[in-house]
Amino acid sequence: MNKMIKAVGLAMLMMAGVAQADPQHPKIGFSIDDLRLERWTRDRDYFVQSAEQLGAKVYVQSADASEQRQIAQIENLISRGVDVLVIVPYNATVLSNAIREAKKAKIKVVAYDRLILNSDIDAYISFDNKEVGKMQAQGLVNVKPKGTYYLLGGAPTDNNAKILREGQMEVLKPLVDKGAIKIAGQQWVKDWSPSEAMAIVENALTANNNKLDAVVASNDATAGGAIQALAAQKLAGKVAVSGQDADLAGVRRVIAGTQTMTVYKPLKQIASTAAQLAVQLVRGQKPAYNAQMDNGAKKVDSLLLKPIMLTKSNVDVLVKDGFYTQAQLAGK
Ligand code: BGC
Repeated sequence: MNKMIKAVGLAMLMMAGVAQADPQHPKIGFSIDDLRLERWTRDRDYFVQSAEQLGAKVYVQSADASEQRQIAQIENLISRGVDVLVIVPYNATVLSNAIREAKKAKIKVVAYDRLILNSDIDAYISFDNKEVGKMQAQGLVNVKPKGTYYLLGGAPTDNNAKILREGQMEVLKPLVDKGAIKIAGQQWVKDWSPSEAMAIVENALTANNNKLDAVVASNDATAGGAIQALAAQKLAGKVAVSGQDADLAGVRRVIAGTQTMTVYKPLKQIASTAAQLAVQLVRGQKPAYNAQMDNGAKKVDSLLLKPIMLTKSNVDVLVKDGFYTQAQLAGK
């Protein structure tokens, strides 16, 4: 009997715990694919800062590019009783069960930067990735309107990689059809790995007798690998290479002329807007969406921000925006 009273008491306490969510002080679980990459540490810092200013508490986890670890971490955040999960998925297609658990526990779910597929998520916030892809291809076409191109895609597990490619092909396809551009080959780069990107470009150079005019790299990390392969053949600066993220190393290569362009995505903007969106969902307020993205399960309310194309001629935008100091860009 005593035991039963205890059990009932405990159950009531637990229910009270669930009902006790305090909208003034929401608990946010931020599950990030990989904090080992430069950009994501900045996303984390800006996000935590904004969320705390809004009265929230953030629990951050990094899966370090492991889908099992990310699933375990999400389950852990659910059992800690967070009110909302903000997730940068490593693999877009494997989180459906974990998200079902979250929804059962009345936790809101936001996909951050990368869409989560086939799941009942509440919202998606990102930059307009199709536009990023268009900028990458256009940046290369501006300097190499004709020639042989190699397509170096992002991680096959990342839905953004696919959207970037769609954007890139919107620009390239008409030029391929006209015969101005020939596509020599294409590969996706596992985990966006620079060393993998380097190996792929080494092979592409060998297969094409070093006769490539442009490498469509989908971010700065993979551009870095591509440029290392080019440098070994004394082709750095001769073959056009795109990028994305305005990583410090990437921007320095743009200044040095070995990388043609990068795409600046103001991370403070996505992080602070995401923090606001997460808090609004907990408070039952309606965030200002501007798009809907189909994730295979539903049309997800989305907020897509504007990326900025950077070449040597406008990198000072980064200094004006406080993203880097002049000294950082100069390598000091
Ligand atoms: C992001 C890029 C990033 C890449 C690798 C993509 O989903 O949009 O900004 O470079 O992942 O982390």
